Amino acid sequence: MKNLLVFLMFLMVGLVSAQNTYLQCGKILDVTSGKLLEERTIVVSNGLIKSIQNGFVSGTNADKVVDLKSKTVLPGFIDMHVHIESESSPSRYLERFTKNEADVAFQSTIYAKKTLMAGFTTVRDLGGSGVNIALRNAINKGTIVGPRIFTAGKSIATTGGHADPTNGTRDDLMGDPGPKEGVVNSPEDGRKAVRQRYKNGADVIKITATGGVLSVAKNGQNPQFTVEEVRAITETAKDYGMLTAAHAHGDEGMQRAIKGGIKTIEHGTLMSEETMELMIQYDAYLVPTISAGQEAARLAKIPGYFPPVVAKKALEIGPYSEKTFAKAYKKGVPIAFGTDAGVSPHGDNGKEFGFMHRAGMPILETLQAATITNAKLLGMETLGQIKEGFIADIVAVNENPLQNVGTLEDVVFVMKEGEVFKPVSE
Ligand SMILES: [Zn+2]
Repeated sequence: MKNLLVFLMFLMVGLVSAQNTYLQCGKILDVTSGKLLEERTIVVSNGLIKSIQNGFVSGTNADKVVDLKSKTVLPGFIDMHVHIESESSPSRYLERFTKNEADVAFQSTIYAKKTLMAGFTTVRDLGGSGVNIALRNAINKGTIVGPRIFTAGKSIATTGGHADPTNGTRDDLMGDPGPKEGVVNSPEDGRKAVRQRYKNGADVIKITATGGVLSVAKNGQNPQFTVEEVRAITETAKDYGMLTAAHAHGDEGMQRAIKGGIKTIEHGTLMSEETMELMIQYDAYLVPTISAGQEAARLAKIPGYFPPVVAKKALEIGPYSEKTFAKAYKKGVPIAFGTDAGVSPHGDNGKEFGFMHRAGMPILETLQAATITNAKLLGMETLGQIKEGFIADIVAVNENPLQNVGTLEDVVFVMKEGEVFKPVSE
C-alpha cells in the first residue's frame, strides 16, 4: 500500500513537471488559409502541438523556450518520392557490384540526416534494396537522425523493365529474378510480390509502369505492365492497407496504371490531355518530380557521366517534366509534392517548390501539396498543419515564403515530433 502511494506521488510529480517547449514565433504561415499569424506561441508537449497562444508566452522554469521571433514558421514538409539509400554518381552502375549492404546502410544515414535538416520531416521512399526498411526502423527507434519514412522496400518491375535489378548485367549474372526480388510477369506474381513486401515490412507498393530514364535499357517510356497485373497488385495492396505508386513516363503505361487503381503517378512526364482527364476522373495524383527531370538532363550533358543509352533518354525525357506539370496543373489534375531526391541531391528537396512555382503554381499551393495533400495521401490526418492536437513537426525559415519561394531552400529550424533536430543558430 505504502509502495503504491509513493509510486502515485512520483507519477504526479512527473506529470506536473513534464517539460513543454514554447516556440515563440514572429509569424506562423497557416497553410490552409494562407494567412500569416503574427506573434504567436506554439506550446509543444509529448510530441504534439498542445496549444497555440496569442503573443509570446513562456511556461515555468522547467519548460524550454525557443526564440523564433524573427522567423516564419511552417509545418514540416513531406516529400512523396525519394530514394534515401543512394544518390546520383558517375559510378552508379558499378556500385551494385562494389558496395556491400553495410556500405549502403551507412550512406543512407547521411542522406536521411540531410533530408531532415532541409525541413522534410516525412518522406516516402519509393524503392531501394530493402535497407530503407531497416533505416525507417532505426529512425523510429531514435538511434538514427532522419525523417519519418514510409517505404516501398524494393520496387516491383517486370522482366527487363525499369527496376529489374539485373538489367544491363552480363548474361550469367542476369538469372531470372522473381516476385521476391520484385520482378513479376503475371497477376499471380504481382500478388505474391505485394505479400512479400508486406512480410518484409514495407508500407507502400511501388511499381514501374513504364520504362525509366536511368535503367540500362533502350526504352524510357514503353508500357511494362498489363492492366490485369496492375489491378492484381493494387487490390492485394488494399487488402494489407498499403498505398500504391507508379513510376510512369509514357502515356499508355500511365493510363493502364490509373485504370488498374494506382493512387499516385510519379513523374507523369509525357502525359496526354486525355490521361490528365483520366487522372481527374479517378482522383489520382501527379507527383511531378521536376527536380529529377532537371537534374537528369543536366548530368546527361557531362560527357561520360551516364552510359550513352541512359544519356540519350535523359536529354529527351528530362525537360518534359516541368512542361507537363504546367499543363496538368492548369487542367486541374490533383497534385502532390515529390522530388525523386536520390536522382537530385538529398537535402535539395526544397528546390522543387521553386520549380513548381515557376511552372505556374502559386507558392501557397506548392506548400499545401507538400503538407496537407501529402499528409492526407499518407493517411496521416494529424500531420502537415500547425494545429492543436497535431504532431509537432515544425520548421522555420528567414523570410515570408509567399514573397520569396527561395527561402524554403534554407530551413533554419527543424522540430520533428516535438524534438528539436536543428536549433536556430544565434
Ligand atoms: Zn524515383
